[in-house]
Amino acid sequence: MSLFSQSVRHATLLRQSFVGADGVRVATCAGCDKHIARMTASGGWVKLIPFDFDHRDEQAHGGGHTLDNCQALCSGPDTCHAAKTAEFVALNAKADAQAGRTGQYARRMARKARGERPLIPQHKNAWGKR
Ligand SMILES: [Zn+2]
Repeated sequence: MSLFSQSVRHATLLRQSFVGADGVRVATCAGCDKHIARMTASGGWVKLIPFDFDHRDEQAHGGGHTLDNCQALCSGPDTCHAAKTAEFVALNAKADAQAGRTGQYARRMARKARGERPLIPQHKNAWGKR
């Protein structure tokens, strides 16, 4: 689902397009230059391959639904959009862990808050049995 308005999506395709030797305007993927859509005589767009409108600066990081922040990327398995989404998910997971929202530290604090003992004793005798 795209949160970009129709006019932003149209302007994005227009910005990423060129007019070929046959006079037909073709929009290309912002990532790999594959031809994603072509313009019809009435000024609409016909999809040539699957693509999505993507936030250049992801919403979680303060990006808006503006033309400046919009790009069309080819979509589906092993495409520009899939690659960007995977990278974004990895970045967010890392940010959560670093902020202590997930990971070992967060689990330990949650157990402590519930009044439970740590799963791993923190003051284990390094020499084993006394
Ligand atoms: Zn692409």
